[in-house]
Amino acid sequence: MRPERRSTAEDRPKARLVGLGLLLLAACARQPLEPDAPPEAPPEAPTEPPTTPEGSVPEVALPAAGRAPIGAGAVGPLRALIDAGRAEPTAMRLLTPLCDDIGHRLAGSPGLERAVLWAEAALRAVPGAQVRLEPVQVPVWRRGREQAWVTAPHPMALPMLGLGGSGGTPGLEAEVVLAVDVDSLGPEVAGKIVLFDVPMRGPEETTGVYRSIDAYGAAVGARGRGPQAAAKAGAVAALVRSVTTRSLSTPHTGGTRFDPGVQPIPAAAITTEHSAWLRRLIERGVPVRVRLEMEAETLPEALSHNVIAELPGAERPDEIIVLAAHLDSWDVGQGAQDDGAGVAQAMAALALLAASPAPLARTVRVVLFTNEENGLRGGVEYAAQHGGERHVAAIESDIGAGWPRAWSATGSEAQLAWLRSAAAPVGLPVESGGGGADIGPMLDHGVLIAELLPDDSAYFDVHHTWADTLDKIDPVALQEGAVALAALARALSDAPPAPPAAPPAPAP
Ligand SMILES: [Zn+2]
Repeated sequence: MRPERRSTAEDRPKARLVGLGLLLLAACARQPLEPDAPPEAPPEAPTEPPTTPEGSVPEVALPAAGRAPIGAGAVGPLRALIDAGRAEPTAMRLLTPLCDDIGHRLAGSPGLERAVLWAEAALRAVPGAQVRLEPVQVPVWRRGREQAWVTAPHPMALPMLGLGGSGGTPGLEAEVVLAVDVDSLGPEVAGKIVLFDVPMRGPEETTGVYRSIDAYGAAVGARGRGPQAAAKAGAVAALVRSVTTRSLSTPHTGGTRFDPGVQPIPAAAITTEHSAWLRRLIERGVPVRVRLEMEAETLPEALSHNVIAELPGAERPDEIIVLAAHLDSWDVGQGAQDDGAGVAQAMAALALLAASPAPLARTVRVVLFTNEENGLRGGVEYAAQHGGERHVAAIESDIGAGWPRAWSATGSEAQLAWLRSAAAPVGLPVESGGGGADIGPMLDHGVLIAELLPDDSAYFDVHHTWADTLDKIDPVALQEGAVALAALARALSDAPPAPPAAPPAPAP
């Protein structure tokens, strides 16, 4: 099912390889490991991650049409760029040390700051790239030890992951009540644990083109808003059904929000299997009780950084095209799909552009954002500092490393038309409505935002779990996404005058 390699390293001029080689040398050099904060406690038995047998890299079988190579009709410098990009698995070579040597990297953790230094060093090796770190204050939430049990109707361990922003408890036990709607909680939940059993819809439950990212968006509100609603109604804790369609008893963490003035209660994700089981019991009138122990706490904010690297344009240096991804991840797994893949793709794309003999007309700026997962502070700070600059487009990769399928964009009619025209030679359709969380704040400045929309049918299986690890990455699909980013940046850089900043068109 994989497309044949179109060229090998031997086919390519050696000079073009220098940039990529330097990037990889820098990327693979291990950072000196400063003494860590206290080592993380090993997960308790109920939260033990599922393991994947060593060496088994699942191949996702897709229809041939789903893996059509990008840029089939591209010519000239764009053709050369695409061919050069396919010759080496650059993105996988970048992603490997990020996952295996640094690992997960939540805001405020030593892992994230190691990743910042690693990315800075790797990008400094890209010829012609101007690299800088920009400071960002980030929230610090620490999971600590945590575990849960069902105590009635019969004792059983309850696999769980606390939600970012959750409060802690040395131990509490209470009856569990069911909620299927965040906005309809009343005084009946006071003193109870509220279970939000809101399933994410699968493709079999939808019509038309199925995009997992859309189904995720429709279901994730219960995780983001449910625990606060429960706290306001007097509940002592909240459990949420993991936001995924497929599960092998794997809990998925994520952020939840407590506004200032609302005391955070313990809030945890449980697996879809356990959530469905507890729901069945409750609906049959069987009393259910759960015990929770969570050390979760919010600590003082810390300093982190956005990592920025740009190749100045030769003709319109003040007009900027951003390639975006986020460097932080949740504090489980390796953040391989979310969003190590996007980071590696954006870095590989910049190296590819730097190695091109044809100069860029506009500036291409890679921004690796900090703290997307539990604060979006990197994106908000970037927009505050740079929103006044002339960004003609911002493109994010943050839906994993599946085979590239489309762009999903938000902008004015004129901006979308300009994007469609410029992107045509890249060969991926432009759908409307998306953009990427980190670049979302740029919308307030009238910037056209878009995201790479890969095949995301397997992405949410591992999203925010201990199973988001390097072995789930298909290096060929990952690289194709990097090539797509580079090709779009190249096409937009060379495109005719861009429409002015403008409010986005109404959603379709
Ligand atoms: Zn992400």
